[in-house]
Amino acid sequence: MHYKIISNVRGGLCMSKDNRCLKCSSSIKGLAYSCVHHCTYCHSCASKLQMICLNCNGKLTKKA
Ligand SMILES: [Zn+2]
Ligand SMILES: [Zn+2]
Repeated sequence: MHYKIISNVRGGLCMSKDNRCLKCSSSIKGLAYSCVHHCTYCHSCASKLQMICLNCNGKLTKKA
């Protein structure tokens, strides 16, 4: 399982800072979703993408 947020992971296709949605670039105040590479999406984008990351096709899971 890859639910832990590891802040020192760099590189790869997915880079997100803070809680900013990768798709619509809005800052996320409510529920945030992220893939194992820490791409972060807001709830509405995550649902539109059917919980699949745009960058890596990984599954999006709720961030704690
Ligand atoms: Zn969004
Ligand atoms: Zn991803």
